[in-house]
Amino acid sequence: MLISLSEIMTTKDKVVQARVPIDLDRFEFQGESYEFQKKDSMELTITNLGNKKVLIEGGTDLSLKLFCSRCLKEVVYPMNISVSKEIDFNLTEEERTEDLDETNYIIGYNLDVDTLVYNEILIGFPLKLLCDEGCKGICKNCGANLNEKTCDCDNTEYDPRMSVIRDIFNNFKEV
Ligand SMILES: [Zn+2]
Ligand SMILES: [Zn+2]
Repeated sequence: MLISLSEIMTTKDKVVQARVPIDLDRFEFQGESYEFQKKDSMELTITNLGNKKVLIEGGTDLSLKLFCSRCLKEVVYPMNISVSKEIDFNLTEEERTEDLDETNYIIGYNLDVDTLVYNEILIGFPLKLLCDEGCKGICKNCGANLNEKTCDCDNTEYDPRMSVIRDIFNNFKEV
């Protein structure tokens, strides 16, 4: 959803509070598409700071359906989104983009709420997620979920640094 900031910016001391829906249907990232388990509207406060500057504050709670990094089981991941962004319209769009923060959620004089939320999800997106600290994962050989059953595969993993010692040991045996 786009929210026009031009009226706020041209009215002195103007503060606008609004509850806006998040139109984002899914969270797309690295070729994957994740569903929302929960998605609320966003509580926004936009303040005219004067001198063509606007403060955007907002927050919402949402949950994404993600997957365990080891066994691929679905894991509901709650996120608390909270933003506070100062936008300086004295700068050009290019200057604002260079200005540390990616401000691609500002289009002209409009705020793109969905892009703002998308960026925040991206920042908080877990690189690794486990259904449980003790998750045993999936057997690399037969694909069995090792939390549910055991398999007969030999999954002993050798530390490559150990193989040198093993070779020495084997050579020693042959003597
Ligand atoms: Zn797991
Ligand atoms: Zn197996």
